[in-house]
Amino acid sequence: MLYNNLTIGENGHLFFAGLDTVALGKKYGTPLYLIDEEKIRENCRLYKSFMDKYFDGKARVLFASKSLSYKNIYEIVSSEGLYIDVVSGGELYTAYKAGFDTSKMYFHGNNKTDADIEDAIEKGIGYFVADNREELDSINRIAGEKKIKQQVLLRITPGIDPHTHKAVVTGSVDSKFGSAIETGQAMEIVKYTLALPNVELKGLHCHVGSQIFDSQPFVDASKIMCAFIKDILEETGYKTEFLNLGGGLGVRYTEADPVLDYDAVFSDIANTVKEAFADGKMEAPVLCFEPGRSIVANAGITLYTVGSFKSITGYKNYVSIDGGMPDNPRYALYQSKYTALIADRAGEEASLCVTVAGRCCESGDLIGEDMMLQRCSRGDTLAVLVTGAYNYSMASNYNRLPRPAIVNVYKGETKVVVKRESYEDLIRNDL
Ligand SMILES: *Cc1c(COP(=O)(O)O)cnc(C)c1O
Repeated sequence: MLYNNLTIGENGHLFFAGLDTVALGKKYGTPLYLIDEEKIRENCRLYKSFMDKYFDGKARVLFASKSLSYKNIYEIVSSEGLYIDVVSGGELYTAYKAGFDTSKMYFHGNNKTDADIEDAIEKGIGYFVADNREELDSINRIAGEKKIKQQVLLRITPGIDPHTHKAVVTGSVDSKFGSAIETGQAMEIVKYTLALPNVELKGLHCHVGSQIFDSQPFVDASKIMCAFIKDILEETGYKTEFLNLGGGLGVRYTEADPVLDYDAVFSDIANTVKEAFADGKMEAPVLCFEPGRSIVANAGITLYTVGSFKSITGYKNYVSIDGGMPDNPRYALYQSKYTALIADRAGEEASLCVTVAGRCCESGDLIGEDMMLQRCSRGDTLAVLVTGAYNYSMASNYNRLPRPAIVNVYKGETKVVVKRESYEDLIRNDL
């Protein structure tokens, strides 16, 4: 199957991280997110091995925690020695409450509020990745009030189209994120930052997009950013210490997805950066990478219970499940493709072409169309694979559906790390 944490047991059931998913669904109820801690650790170590191999161990790996955010996740990535990025006060608070070292956090986002900035500085945030002047002014003012000098990176748009879904392209000139090199605004904001008394410019950041399957967009971004760093040196004398190239490495959701050669990506980037600074005018900056999806996606699956099977003569087959867009909005948002199977009969041939539908009052509430499934009936467990990233973190309570629990699987043991929401939780803030 897609990843080595997915196997079929002797009873024909789908096993995940060594455990019978049908039994887990019965034990904890559905819908249910399962997280394979070993796989997350493996992914963290894989990234770290590339940092050792291509960057003398000096490059940093930041987990982009918008992809999956709850307390236990921060404990896991912290114990693997990763940095993190957060994009909101809420993510920051979650990581902080999990005991994550705030000096190893990067605060992202295109519109941090004064309250976000104040709170983050109070908690000792390591770095802001500042998006615009207004933010820089606010950081400068609040840092001044607190009598500190705040480290910042600047979000830069290198002007690259990584040929992925338009909703996840973030590095083109016409973007809500950052300042473009092409228009001269990036150089302006660098100079502006260098002149601020309570802000210390530590480096530059760019993020070209998500679900990228070849190294070219990363190489292009590296080239453009390195050239810009040298322009900055020339114009201002400032030597950029960190170059953060963002995340976006692609992950396989279906057998039809390509396999990304991660080794080639890092080797190509390393060569590009080395070449750019070969003239010895300055040392190459320390690189940072910010993977989200590729750390957690294949560490997660979602279990549902089948409610109905509806075959509309002359049209489609619908399988309805007890979850849907509130726990996984990615099909509704991006038409993202997933692999699903009937966990009770995972070893059987997937011969039915179905649309997997959620239970919300929306025709668009689907997990996928034209999915191949084993035969199924009410009460079967349906597993959707590779749901570790951007599922729980994007979940909502639409139709007043409680969010599912998350069960962590590690070394054959299970532990609830996020409780299932109750109806009482749903009305907790209703006055
Ligand atoms: C979303 C995001 C990431 C992570 O992207 P993935 O595709 O999940 O690896 C990294 N950096 C920034 C700034 C992001 O917005």
